[in-house]
Amino acid sequence: MKEVKYTRKDKIMLYLGCHLSTTKGYVNMMKEALSIGANTFAFFTRNPRGGKAKAIDEKDLNKFLELYEENGFGKLVAHAPYTLNPCSANENVREFAYQAMKEDLDRMELIPNQYYNFHPGSHTGLGVDAGVEMIAELLNKVIKPEQTTTVLLETMAGKGSEIGSKFEEIRAIIDRVELKDKIGVCLDTCHVSDGGYDIKQDIGTVLNEFDKIVGIKYLKALHVNDSINPIGAKKDRHAKIGEGYLGVDTFKAVVNNPYLKELPMILETPNELDGYKREIELLRSLED
Ligand code: FE
Ligand code: FE
Ligand code: ZN
Repeated sequence: MKEVKYTRKDKIMLYLGCHLSTTKGYVNMMKEALSIGANTFAFFTRNPRGGKAKAIDEKDLNKFLELYEENGFGKLVAHAPYTLNPCSANENVREFAYQAMKEDLDRMELIPNQYYNFHPGSHTGLGVDAGVEMIAELLNKVIKPEQTTTVLLETMAGKGSEIGSKFEEIRAIIDRVELKDKIGVCLDTCHVSDGGYDIKQDIGTVLNEFDKIVGIKYLKALHVNDSINPIGAKKDRHAKIGEGYLGVDTFKAVVNNPYLKELPMILETPNELDGYKREIELLRSLED
């Protein structure tokens, strides 16, 4: 991996945010983001447990787009519903994955050039190889050459039959995607540690491995979470920053890493807005 050095002059502001609720519209999300010192955020494209997406209020959306530019926000990281599983043994579940992602990607074009993150899927007994094929098949069906959204595969903890806890699995999916410039990876710090990658010891080594196997250019966003459980636990239980196994030092390494510091960083810790505000302040304070 190429050595990247920053001087004081080109120091950029970290892009930090958390998940916000779409219930009161886009302008409201922007207001909430600004109130906690965020300059990016995540939102669910529909109910995280599934279901239909809300109709879009055009006035709200246009005002939002204005505010987005004015406030110098980084790329947003939308999140697909948790129930979206392209490699379930159940055909109805796979059909929902296709419909939901197709619709979501259409809607994402209303806010051009952002990220859409999804959990690659759980193979529910079909096996990793079959799962990888089915995930890639869905992506090849829904990703269009004209879309401006980049679809992100989230690195997973490896709970149950989850695919994507090993960099090799992420790579195998990307290998099969035709439009590779529309695909990327969102690295979740809790998940990779739970998946067995020792970011607590040395995040640089883990990123080197990511680069060798997947390619660092595919890394587009971070989910910044501490983990309740030790490395390799495959549990996926998020902790507040500094209150879990990873500890504050891991996040100090994250916000100062030249490959990570420019990426949108989304908190998914167990917090309300005021807690996120404190964690955003904490993370900003850790930057050298
Ligand atoms: Fe996620
Ligand atoms: Fe996550
Ligand atoms: Zn998680």
